[in-house]
This record gives sequence, structure tokens and C-alpha cells, in this order.
Amino acid sequence: MTERRAQLAGNLARVEERIAAACAAAGRKRGEVTLIVVTKTYPASDVRLLAELGVRDVAENKDQEAAAKAAECAGLDLGWHFVGQLQTNKVRSVVGYADMVQSVDRVKLVGALSKAAVRAGREVGCLVQVALDAGSGETGSRGGVAPDGVRELASAVAGAEGLRLAGVMAVAPLAGPYAGRQRAAFERLMEISSGLRAEHPAAYMVSAGMSSDLEDAVAAGATHVRVGTAVLGVRPRLR
Ligand SMILES: *Cc1c(COP(=O)(O)O)cnc(C)c1O
Repeated sequence: MTERRAQLAGNLARVEERIAAACAAAGRKRGEVTLIVVTKTYPASDVRLLAELGVRDVAENKDQEAAAKAAECAGLDLGWHFVGQLQTNKVRSVVGYADMVQSVDRVKLVGALSKAAVRAGREVGCLVQVALDAGSGETGSRGGVAPDGVRELASAVAGAEGLRLAGVMAVAPLAGPYAGRQRAAFERLMEISSGLRAEHPAAYMVSAGMSSDLEDAVAAGATHVRVGTAVLGVRPRLR
């Protein structure tokens, strides 16, 4: 086993333990939570090792980097998630490799994604990214639609050809009333998810929680956690 492989295996085992402990503490089954490993800034060779170690879902946040990596990793049994702020001029590229776009935050993006998905003959899963710190009509500092814009955006996705509305995603806010209150933030996201599921029962996914707060997300009810640093190591800064 190479040194890197052993390191990733050890990190994955520790993250797995954390998820299992969080599920047990919350009275949830381990199978209710899916780990997505965020591989941004790390090479395709790491993605390959992760796939060998049993990882089934990876996420990226920049199209240029993700497109190259996904191409290098074609043939691996992986689901690719796009989690970064997405410009409409990158949509065609993203739809070429992403199985799921978790950062849908405006109606204009829905139109572009739909057009690209139809053209590519693909079905792309979409999560509405919620900015828990955004006021009505505002966009979050880390992307996302304000809570009161979720319903309209979800309807747009649900009615768009080539797209499948799968649920909601959020990043714990760094500022505003939820700063430092991850558990409360994720509980608010669960409320928003409940409202969404009342209209769109199949949109059950709740993607929340990262390396530092995955326990809060699991406790609140997240179905997917997105973990980078705890698996791959601390990323170089200024990326
Ligand atoms: C980078 C990133 C993550 C992972 O963060 P870590 O703290 O490294 O676990 C999760 N979600 C999104 C949207 C990200 O950009």
C-alpha cells in the first residue's frame, strides 16, 4: 500500500467512525447518510485511490479543475457532484460530467442547465442551494437563494426538462444569526426541506455538513455530508 493510500484509508476510517457515531447518537441508521468526498485542489490520483477504497461520490467546486479530473477518472464507478458557484457559461461543461449540481441558486441557471442537459441527452439531479443568512431577494455570500425563494426555484427545476429536483443543500453561514450555530442552521434547513417535500415528495436529499460540522448535520437530519479536509488533508490556501 502506498503511503498516500494508507493515509487516505486511515482518514476515511476516522470519518466513517464519526458518521457512524453521529448516526447512533441521533438514533438514525448509518445507511441514511451518504458520504460525499470533496476532492477540490487534490489530484485525480487521489480520486482513483478513493474509488479503490470504496468511495462512491465525489464533489468539486470549480469547473475547469473538475472537468479535467472527471475526464482522467472516466471509467471509475463514481457519482460527480458540482458544489461551487456556477456561471451560466460553464453549464455546458459541467453537465458533461456532473450527475448532480448541488448549487442551483437562481432561475436563470435552471434554464441554462435544462438546455444543456437536453442537448447532452442526460438527466442531471439538482439541489436548491439555500443561503440561510440571506434576506428576502438577496443571494448568500457563499451562493444560495434566500429561504423565501426556495419554493419558486424548486418549481422551476421540477418543471424543467432534463433536470430532476432532488432536494436542498446549504453551507453553515459564517455571518448573521446562524454564525457559529451550525446545529440551529441545519435544523432550519431541515424545516425548509420539509416544506419542499410537501410539494415534491421525491426531493428528499438534504446535503449539509462538512469536516468541522458533520455531526451537527447528521443530528439535524442530513442525508448527505460533504467532507474534504478530514479525508484529504488541509488544502493549500489561496485556491
Ligand atoms: C470545500 C467544500 C466542502 C468541504 O469542506 P471541508 O471543510 O474541507 O470538509 C463542502 N462543501 C462545499 C460547498 C465546499 O466548497
